[in-house]
Parts: sequence; structure tokens; C-alpha cells
Amino acid sequence: MKPWENNIRKVVPYVPGEQPNKQGMIKLNTNENPYPPAPGVEKVLQEIDMDALRRYPDPTVKLLVEELAHFYHLNNNQLFVGVGSDDVLAMAFLTFYNSSKPILYPDITYSFYPVWCDLLRIPYQTPPLDENFAIVKEDYYKDNGGVIIANPNAPTSVYEELSVIEDIIKHNQDVIVIVDEAYIDFAGRSATELIAKYENLLVVQTFSKSRSMAGMRIGYAMGNESLIKALNDVKYSFNSYTMNEAAIVAGVEAVKDNGYFEEGIRKIIATRDRTEAALTKLGFSFPKSGSNFIFATHEKIPAKEVFDALRVKNVYVRHFNLPRINNYLRISIGTDEEMERVLELLHEIIERY
Ligand code: PMP
Repeated sequence: MKPWENNIRKVVPYVPGEQPNKQGMIKLNTNENPYPPAPGVEKVLQEIDMDALRRYPDPTVKLLVEELAHFYHLNNNQLFVGVGSDDVLAMAFLTFYNSSKPILYPDITYSFYPVWCDLLRIPYQTPPLDENFAIVKEDYYKDNGGVIIANPNAPTSVYEELSVIEDIIKHNQDVIVIVDEAYIDFAGRSATELIAKYENLLVVQTFSKSRSMAGMRIGYAMGNESLIKALNDVKYSFNSYTMNEAAIVAGVEAVKDNGYFEEGIRKIIATRDRTEAALTKLGFSFPKSGSNFIFATHEKIPAKEVFDALRVKNVYVRHFNLPRINNYLRISIGTDEEMERVLELLHEIIERY
């Protein structure tokens, strides 16, 4: 071993879902939206000003911040934007989780959280979800260095009522509580309602799911202005120009088209509800989904076998080889046609077993 190797920061990286690009594939493994972004997004990208690309983008990302602040009835200084919510969350971990006490999050949740903790040397504890994948809120009443809850949770798809989230915030007013709402638009009430009430609350959302723009990489955080200032101070100490010009103008157009946004969500929820009913008939069970995916287990066939059988047929879903969930598949909601085809294949796989 070379001496300099001791000085290399060693991390076990997050493993993103695979991004195959095969003809005719049905890709339901990374919770992307099957529909295109709002029509205004395409138009603005076609017309993008080359002079704007020659220059650096606006480091304050004023246009997008203003549009989002208007949408959520917040002030501009209550909004922070970044390169996908992964970037926003990483900045938030760096900014807010600096205690020697462990931060808390559920044992089954977004698998990026332990990676940021290891990278940034943040101690953590993971209170277990109950057998129905619900949060045990009393587990968050103890002394800690911060709390992060994904609501709806991934990969379980479970949405906790806002009263549960508020109870956790109420019991943790000495630390920062982050609510990661990547999937909230497919669920129910958002913790953004509580921002005026709790100065220690940060709500993080994304354009990747309900706004069909995973490829653009836009995420944002909302909270008290002192939290947003702290996030910006860290961002400017790291990279002032995180958001590129194309993402900024495209993001603005997406937020402007509320009709398209709502219609897209309605379609996904309708397809999800139909898919849930059909999966039940096939012998699958799952928690009621509050997201754009279903987390399902079959009464007879092991999840890994279903995963492999679908893959052979060019259908990609996600399987996590992790304790408590290795017999589940996470299936993103695609178009009606895609889901019909998947259900047909599942029927065949089950018949054959
Ligand atoms: N939070 C959760 C719970 C997620 O599932 C994802 C998607 N992988 C993200 C955050 C990050 O999404 P993005 O960086 O595309 O905004």
C-alpha cells in the first residue's frame, strides 16, 4: 500500500438504479415519470439563447426561485434550488448535521442517507419501521443530532399522515428536521404547510417525478429563511454555479403549467390504483402506495425470481437485496399500456411457477 493511499477518503458509494437503453424495454426501475415534461419546456429549450450559454448562469437562480416561491406561497428567501434533490439533500446533510449525536432516520428508507452519513462522518441511528412499514413516532422522541424522514417513504411507498410528521417535528425542535418529499405530489398533504410554524423544518422536493424532469436534475428545499441562508452559504463555499441555464429556464416553464402538472399526477394515480387492484388478484400484497411506484411481494414466488423473469422479457423493476425487504419488488408506474403488459407477463410467470 502506498503511503498516500491512507489519505484517500474511502466511501462505499450509492448505487443508482441501472439505466439500460434497449429497444422495446419497459423501464420501471427508477421511478421516472412515463410522460414528457410540460410542452412549454420543449419550446423554451428549442429557443434557448446561445449567448446565455456563453455566460455563467445566475448564481442566485432568481427566476426559478421566484417561480417556485410564487407556486408555494413562500418568500424568495425561503427557497433553495439545486441539481436534483440528491444535491440539495447532500448540501443539507453537510449544513445541518454537525452534531456529535446521531441523526435519526428509519431502518428502511432512501439508501442514499447512510452514504452521505459515511461520506460526511455523521453518526446515525435507524429506528425500525413496524411490520407494516409505518413509522414508530415515539422512536424519534430521544436526544439526537437531527432527523430526516422521507414521506412518502422509498422504497416502501408508504405515506404518513401530516399529523405523524408534525408530531416528530414537535418533539425535535432543538435540531433540524428534514422531510424528503420526492413523491409527495402522488400522496397527500405536504409538510410545506408547517414551514411557518416550525423554524427548524426543511422540506425537500424534486422535479424528477411529478414534473417528469429527472434528466434535467432540479431539486429544491423550502424552509425558514435562516436555514435557506445557511444552505446558500455552504453552496457558495462549494460551487456557486450549481444550476445550468437550460435547467433554470426549463424549470420555470414546468412550474408555470399547473394544468399539465395536475393532469399528469391524476393519470399516474389512476394507473397506480388500477395496477394495485390487478396485482392483488395475482396474489401480490403491498402497502397502499402514496407514490408513483408499488412495493410488492408475492405469496408464492420469491421476488428475485420474478425480477429475473421480468428482466429476461426486457422489463426492468427494482429489487433490493437488503434485510427485511429482499422479498419485495419496487415497480414504478408507467403508462397504462406498459402496466398491462407487465401484468400479462406476471400472470404468465405465476402460471408457470
Ligand atoms: N429522495 C428520495 C426518497 C428518492 O427516492 C429520490 C430518487 N432517487 C431522491 C430523493 C432523489 O431524486 P432527484 O435527485 O432526482 O431529485
